[in-house]
Amino acid sequence: MIPPTSASPSASETSRPTALASATSLSPDRLVELADRVDGKSGESLDVFAPATTERIGSVPACDETDVATAVDRAREAGAAWADRPIDERAAVIDRAADLLLAERSALLDLLQAETGKSRRTAVEELFEVPLACEYAARKGPDAIAEDRRNAAVPGLSTATVTYEPVGVVGVISPWNYPLTLSVADVVPALLAGNAVVLKPDEKTPYTALALAEILETAGLPEDVLTVVTGEGPTVGPALIDRVDHVAFTGSTETGRIVAERAGRNLIDCSLELGGNNPLVVLDDADIEAAARGAVQVCFANAGQLCLAAERIYVVESAYDAFLDAFVRETERLTLGTGYDYDDDLGSLIDADQLDRVRSHVDDARERGATVETGGRHRPDIGPYCFEPTVLTGVDPDATVACEETFGPVVSVTPVPDVDAAVAAANDSPYGLNASVWTADRKRGAAVARRIDCGTVSVNDGFLTGWGARDAPMGGFGDSGIGRRNGPEGVRRFTESRTVGVSRIGPFTFPDRIPTGWFVRGAFAATTAGRRLSKAGRRLKNGTVGRLKRGVFGRE
Ligand code: NAD
Repeated sequence: MIPPTSASPSASETSRPTALASATSLSPDRLVELADRVDGKSGESLDVFAPATTERIGSVPACDETDVATAVDRAREAGAAWADRPIDERAAVIDRAADLLLAERSALLDLLQAETGKSRRTAVEELFEVPLACEYAARKGPDAIAEDRRNAAVPGLSTATVTYEPVGVVGVISPWNYPLTLSVADVVPALLAGNAVVLKPDEKTPYTALALAEILETAGLPEDVLTVVTGEGPTVGPALIDRVDHVAFTGSTETGRIVAERAGRNLIDCSLELGGNNPLVVLDDADIEAAARGAVQVCFANAGQLCLAAERIYVVESAYDAFLDAFVRETERLTLGTGYDYDDDLGSLIDADQLDRVRSHVDDARERGATVETGGRHRPDIGPYCFEPTVLTGVDPDATVACEETFGPVVSVTPVPDVDAAVAAANDSPYGLNASVWTADRKRGAAVARRIDCGTVSVNDGFLTGWGARDAPMGGFGDSGIGRRNGPEGVRRFTESRTVGVSRIGPFTFPDRIPTGWFVRGAFAATTAGRRLSKAGRRLKNGTVGRLKRGVFGRE
């Protein structure tokens, strides 16, 4: 429960650290040690602040273009030997890193909280996900880029084999909201695929990226295969994009367009995970209490600074009153605080700019006639950038909060006449990142989910069933991005495919007349049949024949 502004400080408020070192395991020496990993020769530095208190945490080099060029050159040199290592060895390094991340969890949680101002619980959610991402890359990544036989041009007389080669050096540009998860999501599959990586973390969260690089090195990653360059986005970002072979960017749609333009000019591939204004749809038959609990989770995780967070809720009219009551009640149960303990649900916003954005979206909605059902206030008595979880109703469809991403703890709830109207409202956005549908009928939910234009849509869950399905791709429609992370797609994007065609009979020639339709269809059927036959042959050889042999002769 959030205390009223005039009340005396609660237990969680008084637990607010006066100095980082006394509240956490982060000593000034440790922070200097991490900053020393950056080879920045510009002589400039960037101060890093704890959002929960505005205390200065430390400073890191502000790299310039020359520093970035040096980092990429070194990565390119170190990457050649890394690419030559058998993929099982690369996977083993990532596997060990997963164990080390868990072993180091306490210090990492302190660091995550210090840099982002998120609550301990949100930091745990972030850290929980990271070893799973490593495990997926280590176990399933090799299959995603294993050599692959395809339908041959002329079955029996030729073969076609695809190999997946590392692109070279991958530039990863990551945001501040989930600095560990969203670095790992690109860095780890890129390394597994045999690339070197230069990671540019957000200016506000460089230490987490540096700790990640240290852990990977301790796990056996050779020096310079992963380098971190710290500094201002508009300086370091373009310098990086001009030198790497693929850029994996996570951040705002606005910056994503700049990154895509630059990548396009350099003719390099890019994957862009961008913003969203995510809808949540409650159908007439939904379990209202479950939907309200789920909505609270997906709206206010990390104080709404989650790219998958729901910001627009559409409820079919017959369920509206009951849902709104339950949702407001659940929201009012949330606690807001800045302690390094497990007391609070929501922590701080990242900085003054983010606070201004959230405040201006709420003020604009109010001025256009919206009702604040709960929340709506800045809470400097709890932390300089703390803002209450806020539920709005009666929001004008043209209000900023309805059209743009707020990226804060603010959500609007709107009644709609029926399911078709809910789908139309959900799709009325240039974004298309994440959505959820709530209903007692799972089949109906899945059918509605298929009509929503988002990269992930969960039924009866806010985001974990979609995002947590590591084997499935994740990304955005429309202004929410290009490309997909997670799943085989998430590894393959960091490779160049090479098709090797081999003729058994020397050069093929084209016939001197255009073939008839039946010939074309027959030739296609023959290529697929040839592939099916050779697959069946391999299965027979490895399976039935192998089992028979082992039965007769025993194991080798
Ligand atoms: P941002 O675009 O301002 O910054 C992201 C990164 O880009 C930072 O590292 C920054 O230093 C760098 N950058 C800034 N200018 C650059 C430039 N000119 N060239 C290259 N890099 C540059 O994003 P933000 O506001 O810090 O992050 C929040 C946004 O990120 C939200 O819109 C959120 O939805 C989005 N996001 C998306 C996902 C996803 O998976 N789709 C995940 C997290 C956050």
